[in-house]
Amino acid sequence: QAAKAKELRGRPGALKDGTLIPLLANVGKPKDADPALEYGAEGVGLFRSEFLFIGNSEPPSVEEQTKAYAELLSRFPGRKVVIRMLDAGADKPLPFLTPEDEPNPALGLRGLRTLKAHMNVLEGQLEALARADAQTDADLWVMAPMVADEHEAEYFVKLGKSKGLKKVGVMAEVPSIALVADKVAKVADFVSIGTNDLTQYTLAADRTLGSVANYQTAWHPAVLRAIKLIADAGNANGMPVGVCGEAAADPDLAVVLAGIGVNSLSMTPVALDDVRAELAKYTMEEAKAKAEAALDGQFYNPAE
Ligand code: PEP
Ligand code: MG
Repeated sequence: QAAKAKELRGRPGALKDGTLIPLLANVGKPKDADPALEYGAEGVGLFRSEFLFIGNSEPPSVEEQTKAYAELLSRFPGRKVVIRMLDAGADKPLPFLTPEDEPNPALGLRGLRTLKAHMNVLEGQLEALARADAQTDADLWVMAPMVADEHEAEYFVKLGKSKGLKKVGVMAEVPSIALVADKVAKVADFVSIGTNDLTQYTLAADRTLGSVANYQTAWHPAVLRAIKLIADAGNANGMPVGVCGEAAADPDLAVVLAGIGVNSLSMTPVALDDVRAELAKYTMEEAKAKAEAALDGQFYNPAE
């Protein structure tokens, strides 16, 4: 089985009928490009830029950041690389940027909210990304985490473009953005769904808390319906919609996501073989039927 999955490694992610579902890698440091390429990732769907900031007492300089982004981009000439802006706060606290006295950090300053409270960091990171883009020939897409609605999306897209970035989009992690996805599709170049946070916020269950871990599943039809709102809005407006949360690494769920209309999937590199092999077993019609059943809750086992 594993050997068979490995055989498909050189091929693009696709359903049995040839419908392409690009399979990308989640990457945490520029040197993690090695496993991504080894497992046949078609590009990077989520580069978590936090590593540059963690363990420091101040933000890295524009020069330092430019070097790190260029190092990553240079590994993927001609390929898509999605870099996420710093996601500080909640489960990713940074002493010099995030407040320590919030009663509910997951509902406080995090992601784009933190960046807006530190405009020097926001503008410095965009500047570094634009410089790295100019030095390399990867297809750079930049996105912001924790974006709540179309107003924040428009704000971020305009700011990114003013720095010279070509493709600027947002993550869908807060249920509010799914509910106004039609509006978001008019202003963002793309949306990437972070199912870890989207699940946490849809079910109001802290993703870091073991006592409510049974709520943390994107198989919940409420999460899948939120994803469908975003995929429908994207497909109606020609805006690409990807998934970059843990859900994309579950081969059965990957088929459901393709059937819902998600255009690309990004995951930890070791999951690529199995997801690629599972997608190849279904036509789009079959994936859609599986998605219908999942949206109806047929594969969801409620917690006792
Ligand atoms: C997510 O929330 O699904 C996601 C991909 O981002 P992170 O896990 O880094 O919060
Ligand atoms: Mg997240």
